[in-house]
Amino acid sequence: MNVREAVLTVDETQTSFLEQGPSLVERAARTAATAAADAEGVDRDARFPHKAFDVAREQKLLGVMIPAEFGGFGASIHDVTDVCYTLGRACASTAMIYAMHTTKVACVVRHGHGIPWMETMMRRVARDQWLLASSTTEGQNGGNIRASAAAVDVAGDTVSLLRDATVISYGAEADGLVTIARRATDASASDQVLLALARDDYSLKRTLGWETLGMRGTCSTGFELKVDCPTDRVFPEAYDKIHAQTMTPFAHLCWSSAWAGIAAAAVTRAQAFVRKAARTSGGQMPPAAAHFTAAKMSLAKLRALISANIDAFARAEHDERALGSLDFQSSITLLKVQASELAVETVMHAMRTAGLSGYRNDGEFTMGRHLRDVLSSPIMINNDRILANAATSTLMSGVPLSLHD
Ligand SMILES: Cc1cc2nc3c(=O)[nH]c(=O)nc-3n(C[C@H](O)[C@H](O)[C@H](O)COP(=O)(O)OP(=O)(O)OC[C@H]3O[C@@H](n4cnc5c(N)ncnc54)[C@H](O)[C@@H]3O)c2cc1C
Repeated sequence: MNVREAVLTVDETQTSFLEQGPSLVERAARTAATAAADAEGVDRDARFPHKAFDVAREQKLLGVMIPAEFGGFGASIHDVTDVCYTLGRACASTAMIYAMHTTKVACVVRHGHGIPWMETMMRRVARDQWLLASSTTEGQNGGNIRASAAAVDVAGDTVSLLRDATVISYGAEADGLVTIARRATDASASDQVLLALARDDYSLKRTLGWETLGMRGTCSTGFELKVDCPTDRVFPEAYDKIHAQTMTPFAHLCWSSAWAGIAAAAVTRAQAFVRKAARTSGGQMPPAAAHFTAAKMSLAKLRALISANIDAFARAEHDERALGSLDFQSSITLLKVQASELAVETVMHAMRTAGLSGYRNDGEFTMGRHLRDVLSSPIMINNDRILANAATSTLMSGVPLSLHD
């Protein structure tokens, strides 16, 4: 079901917005046009892409996934990943911020039904276009999301939490935050809860800057995160369930789509380079044209891999058993590893197609920004960590007996 159909079936009163206004594709394209025009400045100055997010908010992009009954469009996983891809072709930081925000919104949408605070949050995201940030990385724990050091402390109807949040992308710009924490001071590290917080529920004290190779516009600085909030900010469902059913699938699908967008942008530049080179040499292909073919092949593989996983998630999204199956979990976890490696490979081939013109930081064929941005993908939850953790489950999952299993 596409966005328009979802809106029509869920709530007739919501139809006017999309019917009278532009389609979701058009809204994403408008945002991407602004993001592309500002991408170089965002990267150079390591600043938040304000212009792109002003347009995204005008276009109501931040709330597209909120169900129509709470004021959104009820957009599907196919819709939001396509927005990530479109934005990725324009500005990697804008796309990654949108991908992270979408993952947090998905947690609220899929695990917040019937909970008054979570429903309020959905309405605020749709109506006021709240931008939600994420805090999973803590202290020196790297990408070990399934273990938390800081614990929530419940006293009466309030909750407090003090967290050494090593990295919170766009933390200073966000209107709310979704964070994990240990369930209680005497709970084990993996006994975690998830909290969805409004800006008034927490304070941030900056502890680390963000002077990085790429993804500079995500402004992923470190903070001391101090939370004081009502108990209803804590999801009743345990985090392990939310992690498997929503956080991992959405993060991996949306991130991968953003990375595929970066790869596609580099391939577009490589194609323009080959065309120009062939034109100026009487149709003769430049020597590195084979790299262009390799770039196209790895982009095709990347897109096919993401599409297959999006379809698999769409089939299983309301089926707890299917989502929890070893095959699904294994595939969606390894998607992140494969997609990030393929995205880097694609951009490398694209850059080598254009040779020095791609390597330069100036000129119409420069691919320095794309390469720096995409190099964040294997470390954003480090692939080595994922592969080491996945070894047992990979061994346990079966080898398919037919091509269409
Ligand atoms: C652009 C960007 C934005 C981010 N935004 C956020 C955000 O908004 N919120 C947030 O909470 N976090 C964020 N992060 C952090 C991210 O979620 C991870 O925590 C982080 O990327 C992990 O970095 P790491 O490689 O240093 O950590 P680690 O996973 O600790 O890895 C450190 C080193 O140890 C190695 N290693 C680790 N485990 C193993 C293993 N089992 N076997 C072999 N080697 C291993 C790795 O290869 C690596 O060399 C962001 C990261 C990036 C790049």
